Amino acid sequence: MLRKSALQPDSLVSSSMLPYSRQSIDDRDIEAVVRVLRSDWLTTGPSVEAFEEAFARATGARYAVAVNSGTAALHAALHVFDLGPGDEVLVPPITFAASANAVVYHGASPIFCDVEPSTLLIDMENLEEKITPRTRGIVAVDYAGQPCDYDRLRQIAAKHGLFLLADACHSLGGSYKGRPVGSLAELNAFSFHPVKPLTTGEGGMVTTSDSQVARRLKQFRNHGIDRDHHQRAEIRSWSYEMIELGHNYRLTDFQAALGLAQLRNLAEWTARRNRIANDYYQVPLSKLGLTPLQRHADRYHAYHLFVVRIDPVCGIERDRLFNALRAEGIGVQVHYRPVHLHPFYVNRFGTGPGECPVAEEAYQNILSLPIFPSMTEVDFSNVISAITRVLEGERS
Ligand SMILES: *Cc1c(COP(=O)(O)O)cnc(C)c1O
Repeated sequence: MLRKSALQPDSLVSSSMLPYSRQSIDDRDIEAVVRVLRSDWLTTGPSVEAFEEAFARATGARYAVAVNSGTAALHAALHVFDLGPGDEVLVPPITFAASANAVVYHGASPIFCDVEPSTLLIDMENLEEKITPRTRGIVAVDYAGQPCDYDRLRQIAAKHGLFLLADACHSLGGSYKGRPVGSLAELNAFSFHPVKPLTTGEGGMVTTSDSQVARRLKQFRNHGIDRDHHQRAEIRSWSYEMIELGHNYRLTDFQAALGLAQLRNLAEWTARRNRIANDYYQVPLSKLGLTPLQRHADRYHAYHLFVVRIDPVCGIERDRLFNALRAEGIGVQVHYRPVHLHPFYVNRFGTGPGECPVAEEAYQNILSLPIFPSMTEVDFSNVISAITRVLEGERS
């Protein structure tokens, strides 16, 4: 199927633009949602449990708790550690702001640690340097879909008595040394936003192998109430108790049905993303002056993003290349502006330039190229010809 229709008028830039990522929805997905809409349970019903069970199986975790966004997943996961004012949590800055915001929701302070230049994953030496007596834990971000070095992270966490939360919003479908993402840290958070590895519209999940932690997560997503409606019906009791302050972070059953239907395609989609990534490596982009981030041989990359760095020899600045490719209908993106440079963090925590030099330098020259399961060979060659045209035009 051609995504970039030649029949669309040029003025419809947004619909004719090849996006950097997009969802895949088929008839079985739609039927699964409709079936729930015709049923008695729109929320807190059997589809949520079925999705959680299948998700736990797929990720090698013992428990999975569904919530209504990736941000809620991070918020709920951090709740388990009872953070408060004065506590510090280490977070890399090359991530979506929610990774750090979730720390702030709990009144704690994110401390930004730098990333490695070749992968933009957390830099272990910088991580250890930033540990203080106030440090409580680490939020590890599997940037672009490549899992972090979890053996090393677990070692550091154990040595300093820290918790380890994986922000796995990019890496569902990936693995590390043969172990699937979702079972690599004590808690693992996922997002089901449409650009992510699978979608429920909005949605999220937390995985863990600890039954008490799973119980606490379920409580947090349901106002801090000790039993959900379903369990109350089972014991024929009207009473419930609110134990602690929680939220309404529940996922609906029709969203869970969509997630469950999507999950059957996950392995195939991840393989497809890897084939597209291999094609990008083969072009080779580096001859054109674009260097893809490195991948580690002991990991299966989920390729949520395909990120290149623009070599100085290109003689073109990132923003110019960004605009030129967009004018060619290629929906490139920049992931991300370092979180510690956002005005909120500068104003609230006094963060700023110089704190994470590698991340700040990378931010100047990174670009995300389109990659998603339904991307066609025609789409791919359109990307390559646009890049070639723009960069060669620049040289002449
Ligand atoms: C998408 C994303 C989130 C937030 O997920 P939402 O579902 O959009 O709330 C958090 N962290 C990272 C790294 C993400 O990419």
